[in-house]
Amino acid sequence: MISGLHRPTKLVIDRQAIKANIQQEIQRLPQTTELWAVVKADGYGHGMVAVATTAKHAGATGFCVAILDEALGLRQAGFTEPILVLGITSPEYAKLAANAHISLSVGTQDWLAAALPVLQSDNVTASLAIHFAVDSGMGRIGFRESAALQQADAYLQQHQEFNLEGLFTHFATADEQDTAYFEQQVAAFQQMRQALASEPRYVHVSNSATSLWHDACNGNMVRFGVALYGLNPSGAVLQPPYPLQPALSFTTELVFVKQIQAGAAVSYGATYHAQQAEWIGTVPVGYADGWQRRLQGFHVLVDGQYCEIIGRVCMDQLMVRLPNKLPVGTKVTLVGVDGSRTITLQDVATYAKTIHYEITCNLSPRVPRVYLPEKSM
Ligand SMILES: *Cc1c(COP(=O)(O)O)cnc(C)c1O
Repeated sequence: MISGLHRPTKLVIDRQAIKANIQQEIQRLPQTTELWAVVKADGYGHGMVAVATTAKHAGATGFCVAILDEALGLRQAGFTEPILVLGITSPEYAKLAANAHISLSVGTQDWLAAALPVLQSDNVTASLAIHFAVDSGMGRIGFRESAALQQADAYLQQHQEFNLEGLFTHFATADEQDTAYFEQQVAAFQQMRQALASEPRYVHVSNSATSLWHDACNGNMVRFGVALYGLNPSGAVLQPPYPLQPALSFTTELVFVKQIQAGAAVSYGATYHAQQAEWIGTVPVGYADGWQRRLQGFHVLVDGQYCEIIGRVCMDQLMVRLPNKLPVGTKVTLVGVDGSRTITLQDVATYAKTIHYEITCNLSPRVPRVYLPEKSM
């Protein structure tokens, strides 16, 4: 996709905030517990390689991604740390993963059996690192029965094409006040864990929420995702043990300003009619940039003042009602701080009836990412 370098719309990513969030978390972890940075989906929209670079400087010792291509992207960018693909990869790519020293998540013995001939073909230069996924109640991927896990473990031990590097599970409710289901999952995982002949190098259960609020069960690695971007995984339900610093701001400028008379309409469908003579600003951001149509009625900051998004959000532009005449080129903040006022990604998500994860992931590659530098130690 073409990135818009000649329009004022940009995402500003504060690398120091990312660094600080990771360093705070590492300080809370015992020395024996590693932090792997989750940088899937282009680093939750923040830019995978830039986030991974900063995470490494902050002390992350490995990375988690969702799909094999993201892992290969990190290797291409020169990262030599361990990388785990959290989703299911087709066994036909076992050789590609093995040769790039990329670890894969596996939840059936059938997967191992299908990958074996691929790993026995020519030019395989390394064994394939496996993390067994345990489905302790998330209902997504992984072994659900001890017997099946035990058999897969035995199969793996018989085939030197594989090496068991990890065992993990994922919690469905670690970000909630009520811990009953969480504790049920912990118990299920502890029981499944007994099925292995011996413990692998990494046993890991923690996403951000688990590491922030249930660190007692962390294991020896945490998969630290959304919190490294400075976002509270629970929304506003639980408070993190240290203040998270949001890394992302979304800014642009007014590109057109006009006064319209009472009764005049704005945007598709002519759904908005001015009550009186009003100053209207046009903002070069639309749903093609990831600013959803349902954000009609929400606000932006123009010159530090809240201004309502009026009329329908278009593909590439939206209109706001200004308090008074303002010049073209006036700063517009869609996410971030301007003066004494702030719009958080949580505010946007709440208005759009979703979670901040979805808002950042939807920010299109058309919007350039600009990086503020890390401070050195
Ligand atoms: C995405 C993901 C994570 C990271 O979750 P956050 O809530 O962003 O910390 C951890 N583990 C698995 C299996 C995931 O899919």
